[in-house]
Amino acid sequence: MQARILAIHAHPDDVEILAGGTMALLSAAGHSITIVTMTPGDCGSADLPADEIAAIRRNEAGSAASLIGAEYRCAEFRDLAVFSDDASRRRVVEILRRSKPDLVLTSAPVDYMADHEATSALVRDACFAAPARNYNTRDVQAAAPLKAIPHLYYMDPVGGVDREGCPVAPDFYVDVKSVFEKKTEMLARHKSQREWLKKHHGMDDYLAVMEQWTREVGRRAGLELAEGFRRYKGHPYPQTALLEELLGSHVAVISGVSAMP
Ligand SMILES: [Zn+2]
Repeated sequence: MQARILAIHAHPDDVEILAGGTMALLSAAGHSITIVTMTPGDCGSADLPADEIAAIRRNEAGSAASLIGAEYRCAEFRDLAVFSDDASRRRVVEILRRSKPDLVLTSAPVDYMADHEATSALVRDACFAAPARNYNTRDVQAAAPLKAIPHLYYMDPVGGVDREGCPVAPDFYVDVKSVFEKKTEMLARHKSQREWLKKHHGMDDYLAVMEQWTREVGRRAGLELAEGFRRYKGHPYPQTALLEELLGSHVAVISGVSAMP
């Protein structure tokens, strides 16, 4: 099966940090990948005006996606202004209908920042709405409803913890050792973030921080380098283990939790 995969997260670089290796594996296996960011990262600079940094970051995200043959699109919300409301849900449903995904990956429902949580809720609800024939996105060139609700998976929250600092355990891990160089190369395309993350997040080197995180997830999985995911369990979303099946031997299941059907 050649699957259509849509990874939607809030900002340019989130997908690369939390799921870049998994995207690289899926792309190498011949699946079609679209990466969408809700915003162009317009607040991610202390020096440049919003429009300028947004233009730079759209290009960086497109360049990172092109490294694995993925398409990139921006939903054109704005930083710190992603909300789960009526107009936003219609916009995200339109994105889903145009991409026709079999499988969607998005941000964790509980995460350190508001845009991540709003993205998670919007994408979850858009997956539900996208096949509903009477749900009108009000887009002038509205795409047809999806045939079915796509499979929905959550990436790890940043740092693997909720807002209280409690660990959020994934259902399963993906071994990304074989594509870690590609993951690093993808994140390195987000060059504009080096200075910003140093200034605003106190991160010395964002590539090193990503590596530390991927190693830490690997350690929890008994692997060298890994990424973690959870399948959304709500009714009536599909509950077969599509992502696990597509990734095959790259998947490590946590003991006691069955990731396969
Ligand atoms: Zn983010």
